[in-house]
Amino acid sequence: MKLRSSWQQSEFSWRNVLWIGAVHLIALAGAVPYFTWTGFWTFIALYYVSGMIGITFGFHRMLTHHGFNAPRWLENVAAFCGTLACQGGPINWVGTHRIHHAYSDTPRDPHDVNKGFWHAHAGWIFNLRCDLSNFEEYKHYAPDLAKRPFFVFLEKNMIQIQVVLGLSLLALGGTLFGSTPGAFDFTTAFSMVVWGIFVRMIAMYHATWCVNSVAHMFGDNANKIGDNSKNNAIIGLLAFGEGWHNNHHAQPRIARHGWRWWQLDQTWIFICVLETVGILKNVIRPSRAMILAQINVRSAQTQQDSRSQDAVPGVGL
Ligand SMILES: [Zn+2]
Ligand SMILES: [Zn+2]
Repeated sequence: MKLRSSWQQSEFSWRNVLWIGAVHLIALAGAVPYFTWTGFWTFIALYYVSGMIGITFGFHRMLTHHGFNAPRWLENVAAFCGTLACQGGPINWVGTHRIHHAYSDTPRDPHDVNKGFWHAHAGWIFNLRCDLSNFEEYKHYAPDLAKRPFFVFLEKNMIQIQVVLGLSLLALGGTLFGSTPGAFDFTTAFSMVVWGIFVRMIAMYHATWCVNSVAHMFGDNANKIGDNSKNNAIIGLLAFGEGWHNNHHAQPRIARHGWRWWQLDQTWIFICVLETVGILKNVIRPSRAMILAQINVRSAQTQQDSRSQDAVPGVGL
């Protein structure tokens, strides 16, 4: 993938700082005073809708890597759900991630982990590259998506869509889910907005950002592919299977990231369900040979480690 010439320039993004700062402040200030179980279950539901159906299934495994064939209606629904995560529209998200794979852990990688944990986690969003901040530039990184009017609509209306969702939660919380019949229930209404929008958004921000930071620094590089990507079980749990990131970097098109039976991958379970009912076709799976190769690398590493322990001076020979 050829980068735009503007990739070497970056600008401090006050817009992103203010947005992400405000979301954090409201979430942290409102989470305890506005906790209700209705708000909590709204958080869980929207965390799955925006995070798993939207980001990991939709933006990532479907639109970025084409790990399976999906009908167009499902692509549109998943792209809409991904836009609800407020991590950029589908064209920006997919374009940025394709660059990450093309230039992993090099200066051309937007969130190059060699520039430090903070840069890989969120710093790159605040000090944003010019090729990723302007639609006319970054649309070239995902031309297949940029030609679809619905995706362009999502790209340009991300905040407005979030506002409509927030107002809908406010109305539902105050009336349908409220506990005061015949009157507007402000506590439930605000709870659904604080937990369903703000707490959910920061939880998903950090889960996604941790894939770029934690899962490029801490964990197991089982596939020995020469970059910094790692398999990290905790991130795998929080980010719907995306923490098996070394597997993913080894074979990006494979729709299953947790290759072994014990590597929990919730997005993969979702993909299997959709495949079973006939909605998804041509799902790309890891071959048995690939999994065996990974096991062989690990057992060779274990043997080497035990040999080097035996060779500690004064203990062994
Ligand atoms: Zn990565
Ligand atoms: Zn990827």
